[in-house]
Amino acid sequence: MYAAAIIPAGGIGKRMGLGSPKQFYELAGVPILVHAIRAFEQVADIQLIIVAAPQNHLADTEQLVEKFHLHKTKVVAGGKLRQDSVRAGLAHVPEECQFVAVHDGARPLVSPELISACLDHAGLHGAAMAAIPVKDTIKEVADNVVLRTVDRNALWQAQTPQVVRTDIMRKAFAAADEQSFIGTDEASFLELIGEKMTVVEGSEQNIKITRPDDLLIAESILMQKKEKNTGMRVGHGYDAHRLVEGRSLVLGGVEIPHTTGLLGHSDADVLTHALCDAILGALGSGDIGKHFPDSDPAYKGISSLKLLENVADLAGDKGYVLSNADITVIAQQPKLAPHFPAMQENLAVACRVELDCINLKGTTTEKMGFTGRQEGIAAHAVVLLQEIYLLSL
Ligand code: MG
Repeated sequence: MYAAAIIPAGGIGKRMGLGSPKQFYELAGVPILVHAIRAFEQVADIQLIIVAAPQNHLADTEQLVEKFHLHKTKVVAGGKLRQDSVRAGLAHVPEECQFVAVHDGARPLVSPELISACLDHAGLHGAAMAAIPVKDTIKEVADNVVLRTVDRNALWQAQTPQVVRTDIMRKAFAAADEQSFIGTDEASFLELIGEKMTVVEGSEQNIKITRPDDLLIAESILMQKKEKNTGMRVGHGYDAHRLVEGRSLVLGGVEIPHTTGLLGHSDADVLTHALCDAILGALGSGDIGKHFPDSDPAYKGISSLKLLENVADLAGDKGYVLSNADITVIAQQPKLAPHFPAMQENLAVACRVELDCINLKGTTTEKMGFTGRQEGIAAHAVVLLQEIYLLSL
């Protein structure tokens, strides 16, 4: 699925009593808007995030995108009303994009799971929004007197995201423009053209920050999440390849002069494979064979550093960065230590981390076993990943 997100972020924060627009107000050290964008950055089906910011805050918003490494995000000028900002965002949605997910910039606690659920339902039904059933008894009141009690069974409170097939969304906005219709969410635009919006049960935590009290509630929810989650994940990888004549020996992306080399579908870089497997393990994403199958000709003879780059990208998409890796290569011959600095550099660049995040060790098995007999080389890797999100809290 190719989906784009539009985040109207034009709120001026009048009710908040804040000097700057409320989306720049920090929640647990991170601007409200950045919390919202990050949730979308973590959803694989969302390939582009368009933030429609107030004209006079375009530069600050762009700075935030850079500072927090929001690599799917693009900033455009929004408008006066929410729908003006959504319309401005819609103009930047590419033709090939099938679905558009609109989300309030002032709902920082939306989860990637809720976004995915709305995308899945929209995929089935054309449009889906997050909403929660009304809990309180609802009264219709005039001049401080109750006129009647409204049957709450059929009442739901609208939230965002609201995901709509792009062609339906464009049609709804064209109709709204024609009729000078003003609506406060996408569902009301769909009503205008008689299209159905389905409902996905949202979350009580997916609150919209509109009053100062909301900030206190949001902050405590975030702190609770932080306590439950250390933001660290550990992984282990092991690999072994056979040594044969007529192949080059590549370890950590470095070609090492030797009489034999490792046999495999790719360059058989056993060290880099162990590291890839450790990172995938930490992510709970299976192993290297699942992501880059031997049966796929695309990976024949490929540099394993390229696979490592892809694995590091996957970690980034899931919101993790490599904190450190400790790798042991088991080889009787040749001597590896002189090549470690070059390997360390290759691995650090592929993972986009500092050199000292990567530690390399070599050992022999004192001529015992398959590595001792020089039938093959094996490698173990242990990694710690750190959640990027928590690094900045
Ligand atoms: Mg391998």
